[in-house]
Amino acid sequence: MTNTFLSQLVDLLGNDVVQTEAAEIEPWLSDWRGVYKGQAQALVRPLTTQQVSDCLRLCNEHKVPVVPRGGNTGLCGGATPDGSSANVILSLDRMNTVRSIDTIANTLVADAGCILGNLRRAAHEADRLLPLSLAAEDSSQIGGNIATNAGGVNVLRYGMARELVLGIEAVLPNGDIYNGLQTLRKDNTGYDLKQLLIGSEGTLGVITGVALRLHAPMHVRSVVLAAVDSPKQALELLRLVFGACGPRLQAFEFFTDECLDLVLAHVDGVQLPFDQRHPAYVLIELADTANEEALQTLLEDVIGRALEQELCQDAAVSASMAQLQALWRLREEISEAQRSDGPHLKHDISLPIERIPEFIDSAELRLRTVANDCRLFIFGHFGDGNLHYNVSRPLHAEKTWAHEWEERIADLVFAEVASYGGSISAEHGIGQLKRRSFHEHKDPLQIRLMEQIKKVFDPNGIMNPGKLL
Ligand code: FAD
Ligand code: ZN
Repeated sequence: MTNTFLSQLVDLLGNDVVQTEAAEIEPWLSDWRGVYKGQAQALVRPLTTQQVSDCLRLCNEHKVPVVPRGGNTGLCGGATPDGSSANVILSLDRMNTVRSIDTIANTLVADAGCILGNLRRAAHEADRLLPLSLAAEDSSQIGGNIATNAGGVNVLRYGMARELVLGIEAVLPNGDIYNGLQTLRKDNTGYDLKQLLIGSEGTLGVITGVALRLHAPMHVRSVVLAAVDSPKQALELLRLVFGACGPRLQAFEFFTDECLDLVLAHVDGVQLPFDQRHPAYVLIELADTANEEALQTLLEDVIGRALEQELCQDAAVSASMAQLQALWRLREEISEAQRSDGPHLKHDISLPIERIPEFIDSAELRLRTVANDCRLFIFGHFGDGNLHYNVSRPLHAEKTWAHEWEERIADLVFAEVASYGGSISAEHGIGQLKRRSFHEHKDPLQIRLMEQIKKVFDPNGIMNPGKLL
């Protein structure tokens, strides 16, 4: 049966598109962190939407599971196949053309396999801004970004990926092509079906094309790194900065001194711009279309007030693009530094912003009662109420520690998140990592509706089994 399927697949798409050798498939079987590993009988790398459609139609006929694959930077194991050797990995990497950029309508239409960083550069060359930005932007693909409803560092001003999507082209599991690649700003004709595909993590279909909203280019940027004595101080700083800077506030990122330690230990050429260390740091970026001097003055003025009102301990304002990038590296290299440090437990959580300080205190208290000497690395998109609340093994423990403690610690952290009215996934999604906790914490009515929607799109259940639902 499987062999018939494979030979039909090769006949349909050719040897160039379908790879079946174990050695060719091997590098595609694990995730970015090296936590998950699966099996697959074939790797399919189509060049066109029609080829995606042909592939899915055949897989559906044979009930062969399909795992859509973007840039593989997802942090929940969503793009990694499960243990079944029947899986087909469908990679969009060769569908990477920018189809059009319109600087009157301010839209960009592209293949789903385009690397996010390349799209940001294409928009920049057209004197426009694609504001979706994350540390993995030079590997992740726009299709993957939309399938996970990615967040990143500019959500505060521009919203999540969802808010940038005007249209989607996708292939449904039965091979039908959903032609929703429109760039209209307004369209109130019934249910907005693209919203179901955004954040669906490859469980409803394969996104093959996207139409995105562009924004005015931010020609001037200014960054300050502020040292704070506590999350409470960071909160008060946010109140002040937002009030003074409004829409110019592009990012408000937070990290603790423990995160900084890790970056200094594992990343070359980074430096703290202060004489002494502080409990935590906030990186604030302001951006505008023009008038560098006014922006710099605004930032210096607001930071001056923050120092006066004791809302921060110290501050370093960037005076050049090189300094701005150096400050950003302190924040953006944390994930890489954690990867070098070894296996750790990631909790990408969302909280009511004003309760973050309280949560940080109470969650640590609870955590220490069960795993007293674990190491905590807390950082993230503070201005969005999104923390990356990561827990690592005690220094003396074996690297298997994370695996052994994974469930107990996740249960504890997520119970605490729930008690604050938060969410167990802010921006990374569910994948296979959070499936159990998702079913535990999500309202059963909402799960039931999701299962019914899944059946409408994918009655044979071939799309990304073992993920999300
Ligand atoms: P993949 O990892 O390949 O896939 C992710 C999921 O989407 C899988 O379920 C897959 O099946 C599905 N999928 C992929 N492509 C398609 C498609 N074309 N059609 C249908 N389904 C598809 N995320 C954030 O939100 N904010 C951050 O700030 C952030 N920072 C990160 C920093 C680092 C260093 C790393 C490694 C990751 C970070 N991430 C962040 C996570 C990750 O980059 C995002 O989840 C990203 O959107 C995944 O895109 P991808 O192309 O790599 O998708
Ligand atoms: Zn993040």
